Amino acid sequence: MRMTSKSIWRIVIIAAVVASSCWVDVSDAEAKKKGKGKSKSKTSSSKSKNKFPPKDYDPNTKVYIDALFFRCHAEDCPALFMKENKKSMTLEEADKAGAMICGVGMKSSQQKCLQGYQRKHPQKQTGDDTLVWAGEGRTGKKLAWHVPGCHRGSGSRSRLKTRKAALAEGGIMCEHCAHKVSFAKPHAQDWPEKSQDKTPFVAPAGWSPKAYSPDQLPPKKELDIWVEETLGTGLALSGDRFEDPAASMEHFVTRRFFFPQQAWRNQHMCYRVTGDKRVLEKMRASARFYNKLAKAYPSAAAYKANGPEGSAFMWTMAVTARITMKMARKYPGKVSKQEFAEAEDFLKTIVATLKPTYEKYDNIDSEYGINQGVADAIRKKIFNRAANGWGMMAQAAAGLTDLQVIKRTNEYQKTIDCYNKTVAAYVKYFRDTGDFQTYNGKTHFFYPYSPNGGYKMQDGIKVYKRPEDVGHSTITLRGMQLIYEANSNLGVDDELLTAWANMACCNATTTVTFQGKQWRSGFMQPPVIAKERVMVKPGWHEYAPCRGTLYHLEAFRPGLIKTLATPLNASQAAKKDADYGNRTHTLFAHYLKAYRKDRSLIHLGEKSGGRLASRR
Ligand SMILES: [Zn+2]
Ligand SMILES: [Zn+2]
Ligand SMILES: [Zn+2]
Repeated sequence: MRMTSKSIWRIVIIAAVVASSCWVDVSDAEAKKKGKGKSKSKTSSSKSKNKFPPKDYDPNTKVYIDALFFRCHAEDCPALFMKENKKSMTLEEADKAGAMICGVGMKSSQQKCLQGYQRKHPQKQTGDDTLVWAGEGRTGKKLAWHVPGCHRGSGSRSRLKTRKAALAEGGIMCEHCAHKVSFAKPHAQDWPEKSQDKTPFVAPAGWSPKAYSPDQLPPKKELDIWVEETLGTGLALSGDRFEDPAASMEHFVTRRFFFPQQAWRNQHMCYRVTGDKRVLEKMRASARFYNKLAKAYPSAAAYKANGPEGSAFMWTMAVTARITMKMARKYPGKVSKQEFAEAEDFLKTIVATLKPTYEKYDNIDSEYGINQGVADAIRKKIFNRAANGWGMMAQAAAGLTDLQVIKRTNEYQKTIDCYNKTVAAYVKYFRDTGDFQTYNGKTHFFYPYSPNGGYKMQDGIKVYKRPEDVGHSTITLRGMQLIYEANSNLGVDDELLTAWANMACCNATTTVTFQGKQWRSGFMQPPVIAKERVMVKPGWHEYAPCRGTLYHLEAFRPGLIKTLATPLNASQAAKKDADYGNRTHTLFAHYLKAYRKDRSLIHLGEKSGGRLASRR
């Protein structure tokens, strides 16, 4: 029997729903094919995928021992940084001592050393006396104990205890660190900068939050309260501190920055609306922290920044430097010498940190004219994970451009060209992978979760194996906005963002039938495809009304905020929009609307003649 492609899709989808397996990404799909079912044993599936053929190594190979976890690297391993801080021994000695061997049994096939090495001695195991601390488990609110330094959970020094004592209190050991031996001692004091974090917002008597209008700014008094709320969101510094700085940095490089810290985003949006200097200072405070780390430990910072996921750690450095430089160029008297020098310093650190990866001109991609490895990463990296790193880079390029004008130099031109070319390549690839479709006279933009996840053509429409879900699209959108704000020639333009707005509205208003009921899909697909290929699985990337981050697109499609509330009634929506996040997103749409018309605009306060913020 020959099946139409349509019926194949339907069967695949029904099967997927019945087996209650998820469509998350290629590795999950592969795990499923191998009969592993739904089990979220990503580690084991990746392990089997990345098995290297056995290989002989000279037992006298010099290896270095990491400072955080008991693991060794060969001298040329890209994951080995701060070498001068680390102990060395022979491979044979490390094996005998039970050290983890970098490339053996590790998850990722990238940037590992000693792949295919065959252990001669057992790996050292953690035991009852291993010290652990409690952190937040990633899955729900379950108490999880971690070996200090685990990428999944920070803990508190006061709760450091033996594994035996910890488990007696209840909870579980985190599966990611349960087998990792660590000799690193958490520092007696956390990073001092983290203590600046605490300025909790106290609501004024009689005040209660109410939704803001997409059409009219709230009165100054209300904006002042909103600024106070924003100042209460802290610096959002990530990472634990250990006595050995190399251990601190090994932990730092595992931190995730590709969903930029919400506090940074909020501060950025708040500054764009009010121009309040205290908010800018708050962003600068976190920028200072990462600037300090990157300058003190350049090899670790460069390793972290070797892809767009990690380079997003310099988000506040780039964003504040860009604002400061633009301000200095537009209003020379308004930026102090010190502020200018600091912004210049942030930019210099970014340039130095990105140089080893991006400013390599010996192996150039023929299509994009940028470093081959970088071009390959653009073609492979999941869009939402990459967007904010590229957004950071676009902001840095804009900052450097203003810096050059102010200082009358061409010193950074090659770097600026490299950054702009790289970001433009990402955006071009994104647009080319996506699909512009016209419905009811409006152009919509659809795109997949992964750049190389696969699609088939159906009546001129790209039907992606895994279309983007609305949640992840908001992350990608944040990075795209940074690019939009940095430079209008990099491919993120009014056309793209308008088509994105149309897609979001389309998604909110298209109903699909699943198990006899009407649903809205959490995946962004053209209506005809969404109805036919129903991607609904309760609890997994479900549609949610009033998704704040998308509100920015009100600037490209008036009425969007109202549409995104579907199917809530006005009072239900108003309740959701009273939330701090949604109020912030609503106000940021005001800024973007004005910025569309005037690209020289730094913040809305400029237009109100100081009405919005008295502290510029
Ligand atoms: Zn290694
Ligand atoms: Zn853990
Ligand atoms: Zn539509």
